[in-house]
Amino acid sequence: MKIYNTLSRKIEEFKPMDQSEVKMYSCGPTVYGYAHIGNLRAYLFMDTLRRTLKYNGYTLKHVMNITDVGHLTSDADEGEDKMLKAAKKEKKDPFEIAEFYMDVFLKDIDKLNIDQPEIIARATKHIDIMEKYVQKIIENGYTYETENTIYFDTSKLDKYGVLSNRNVEEQKAGARVEFDSEKKNISDFALWIKAPENHLMKWDTFWGKCYPGWHLECSAMSYQYLGEQFDIHTGGIDHIPIHHENEIAQAQGFCGKIPAKFWMHVDFLTIDGGKMSKSLNNLYTLQDLADRGYEPLVYRMFNFTSNYRNKINFTWDTMDSSKVALSRLREGFLKHKNGTEMVESEILQDFENRFLEAINDDLNMPVAMSVVWEVVKYPKKSKQLMDLLVKFDQVLGFDLEYYEPKEEELPEEILELVRQRDEARQNKNWAESDRLRDMLMEKGYIVKDTKEGTEVKKGKI
Ligand code: AMP
Ligand code: ZN
Repeated sequence: MKIYNTLSRKIEEFKPMDQSEVKMYSCGPTVYGYAHIGNLRAYLFMDTLRRTLKYNGYTLKHVMNITDVGHLTSDADEGEDKMLKAAKKEKKDPFEIAEFYMDVFLKDIDKLNIDQPEIIARATKHIDIMEKYVQKIIENGYTYETENTIYFDTSKLDKYGVLSNRNVEEQKAGARVEFDSEKKNISDFALWIKAPENHLMKWDTFWGKCYPGWHLECSAMSYQYLGEQFDIHTGGIDHIPIHHENEIAQAQGFCGKIPAKFWMHVDFLTIDGGKMSKSLNNLYTLQDLADRGYEPLVYRMFNFTSNYRNKINFTWDTMDSSKVALSRLREGFLKHKNGTEMVESEILQDFENRFLEAINDDLNMPVAMSVVWEVVKYPKKSKQLMDLLVKFDQVLGFDLEYYEPKEEELPEEILELVRQRDEARQNKNWAESDRLRDMLMEKGYIVKDTKEGTEVKKGKI
């Protein structure tokens, strides 16, 4: 497998540190509101990576965090805590908010057929691990204290910013506000914060009643489950300049190592070429798509029209084409399922090779899908091709094998004729019953008399 590594800025051959198991960490959601479809793109990418690794025969130990504390409205140390802000707005306890939106999130990913990582780690359940982790960073001399905050001192590192490769001058230019005067360096960040009296999420710790900085949870929990170094770390491209740089800084302060060998980042979903935002009223959830008649797997199909490293632009037109594509895929699958022809083994092998080549080329799903379409449209209809699609579906995740076409709903006009015919038969009005049967047949329905009454289905005798 070849994957793009943000750390080296190159496509590299993937080799796990331990041949038998790939250790992977993904930055998960902050559970303070409904996930929008942009967020969900990040987890679809994560899922395609999981599935591709498995398709290549690897077993996985994959951790995803759930942020339920400490994430401020900006990734740097600015703004309010997202959880507390939502709690205030909804007049609920922040723990209740976290519980509710975590549940919605897990249901959403399930609807998209995103497999859950082996370990889902909630920040609030790992405060003790974070406390130990931060104490070691302090012991190692990478921090300084102000009245209310323990900061990471980024000037103690050989280099801060290995992932985004930005220097301090560029960071200063990029900073939106004059940086907090308490900090010694612009890139320093909060590790451990004293909770004000009225702060709702706080714990008794070595430094009094505190709560952790957002970046800490990912370092502490990845260390807890995967050790000092593991294979792959994933997230959105917005994580590169701050969150992941800070994770790397923390790990270097903790044990002197960059925690992951490979860093993979998914680019953003845009809407009509621009940003999604509440104020533009174009921030959609999976439920919004369902309300407009798009099942979740249509959104999955839509995501395969672009490589994860490119932006993808959401439009309703593209959703319509993805809807058609999903039903063509299912229809094509069923045709092969009912097929009786044989296909030469070289042809099957060629399809299989090209599919594998595409997914192993840094998860090139648009090319992988083009192979899928060749299989679907292959003129010979064959169970061998159905088996091949079932195999490919291990990566695609459409549950083709379990797809049952829904009984087509009968139009109201036909239902009315059926009702009239049943009434005629109850009244022993056989001439009327026959007339109605002929009308139904003319409209393309097969009519059958049963004890329960008239039964019709589409088709000709
Ligand atoms: P959050 O819950 O705000 O921490 O975000 C969860 C994930 O969604 C992060 O990995 C972000 O990088 C990602 N994300 C946020 N907005 C978008 C977007 N428009 N397109 C793709 N990913 C996004
Ligand atoms: Zn993270």
